[in-house]
Amino acid sequence: MAWPRIEGTQILDLTNYRTSPEHIADYLGIKVITADVPTGWWGLYDHPRRTVVIAPGLAPVQRRCTLMHELGHAYFEHQGVTGKYELQANRWAARQLLSVDDVVHAARAEPRHNALACSLGVLPDFLTHFVGSLSHHEYRRLSMALHPAGDTVCA
Ligand SMILES: [Zn+2]
Repeated sequence: MAWPRIEGTQILDLTNYRTSPEHIADYLGIKVITADVPTGWWGLYDHPRRTVVIAPGLAPVQRRCTLMHELGHAYFEHQGVTGKYELQANRWAARQLLSVDDVVHAARAEPRHNALACSLGVLPDFLTHFVGSLSHHEYRRLSMALHPAGDTVCA
């Protein structure tokens, strides 16, 4: 998968790194540490220090998704917290952890949202953000996998 272009900047294709937030962190030059974060948070990105802090004690799926989300902030060089930044980081992270092919394949076996997310190794919210990031063409592919022609029930 090619990374999106941002303001005309050529972004490298890191397809080989899709499932490994740690490799993306290395590639981006981001330090990842485990340490306490503010109550109720699972992680944070400290832009001046180019460091992601992940809360201790997260389940593997929480850690993976949180790390990728925080790397999204690093990728876009976000400073501060805004709704726009959160959405951007969430969609970027979901696109790194999931591919359309993988989701289509998995959805044929398990179309229920939470169970599908579980089978893909992501939090349910990530699947929602992934769907929100899809192009019209990609969305159609996923919809057809979930609701193949012929299964339609006419009223
Ligand atoms: Zn965030």
